[in-house]
This record gives sequence, C-alpha cells and structure tokens, in this order.
Amino acid sequence: MPLIAVSGCRKLEDYRQAVANVGADVRIVDVSMSVGDALEDVDGLLLTGGEDVAPEKYGESRHAAVADAAPGRDEFEIGLVDAARARNLPLFAICRGIQVLNVACGGTLVQDIPSQVPGAAAHRFPVPPHEPFMLAHEIWVEKDSRLADLLRDRLDQDACRVNSRHHQAVKALAPGFCVTATAPDGIVEAIEDPAMRFCLGVQWHPENFWRTGEFRPLFEAFVEAASARTRGVDTSRM
Ligand code: MN
Repeated sequence: MPLIAVSGCRKLEDYRQAVANVGADVRIVDVSMSVGDALEDVDGLLLTGGEDVAPEKYGESRHAAVADAAPGRDEFEIGLVDAARARNLPLFAICRGIQVLNVACGGTLVQDIPSQVPGAAAHRFPVPPHEPFMLAHEIWVEKDSRLADLLRDRLDQDACRVNSRHHQAVKALAPGFCVTATAPDGIVEAIEDPAMRFCLGVQWHPENFWRTGEFRPLFEAFVEAASARTRGVDTSRM
C-alpha cells in the first residue's frame, strides 16, 4: 500500500479517513520531525487545513485579520512542499494547504477576503453539527484540466457546488501553475501544476465528504499516482 504523509492539524480525522478509505497508509507528520524524516519512504504528501500562512513568507505586510499557525508550521510545510516537488511526489493540498503550496512556489495570498475583495461572496461557513456535507457555493471548473476530469460525474456544464471555510485565497499565482477552478466572484478555488506527476490544490474541504463519496475521485487519483510511484511505474508521460 502506498504511504501518504498527512500534515498534522487540529481536525485530522476526516483527512485520515479520506486517505485510508481509498487504500493508503497514513503517516501524520508535524514540526516535531525533520522534513527528511517526515518524507522518508513516503509516496505522496497531503497538506491539510488550518490557520493562515504568515504574510512575511510572501513579502507582504500583515493584515489585522491574519491568524498565525502554530510556531514552525509554516516553515515545516513549506519545506515539505520543496522536498516533495524536488522528488516529484504526488501532492494534494487542501484549504490552508493550497495557500502553503502557492506561497512555497512563489505566489501570494489574499489575506482577508471580506475586507480585501469588494463584492466577494461569503466563503466562511461554519460546519453545521449534523450536516457536514452542506454545500456553500458553486465553483466553475476549467475545461480540459485534471480537476474537470476528476469531477466529471459531479459537473453540471462546468459547475459544481463545494463547501467553504476560508477567509484567505490565492492572489498572485505561483509561476508554472494554472488556476483550474474559481468561485463566481473570482476567488481562486483550485490550482494545478501540470508539469508535476500530480500536484493539485483545492480551497474547499473534500475530506469532509469521505462518508458519502462526493469528492472521492480526488483522493483516488492522488493515491493512484502515489501507488504508481510505489510500483516503480513511470507515470511522467501518462
Ligand atoms: Mn470558497
């Protein structure tokens, strides 16, 4: 079975279940480990949700609404991205994860959507206690992207609905990446690096749906890419 490194966060259980549910082993990794130890013998990297990336990491002064992550988490996760990309490890980045991915690769972030993006819709919906799969807003998915292929059973034309619990988003896109989904208000909801084996970031929380399977194909494709690595299959030209 492929081994997936999952970055530690406060609401780990759904990430763990979403990965285990499609046939992978999970190693939780955090700042108590070196990047090298965290990724040793690992076949894929899943970056999870959490607090904001410090704006100093992308050269901006700090907005009052920024809430820092635990000490060392930014540096650790940026180190994970660098090391994973150097090895062409399959990488799936969720919520804070897409933000870490974009910053690690040279992009910047909207620090606070409500105060910095005039006319933006609501993107910060609480988790309803008995309705974890409540869908908050629509996304428009880029045709011919990997994401469009993975979401094909859910798309109505090029749109589907997602959940949303964030106040930040990708601003300047990292070089080499493509935006593959946006909300109708223009907020970036997914990015991909087409040069990598599998490198996808999403702003919503597909892991919350592991029981009902709405976004299972994202985890299946991620773990499949990691499995191909385990089997020594060269997928670089697939
Ligand atoms: Mn959103």
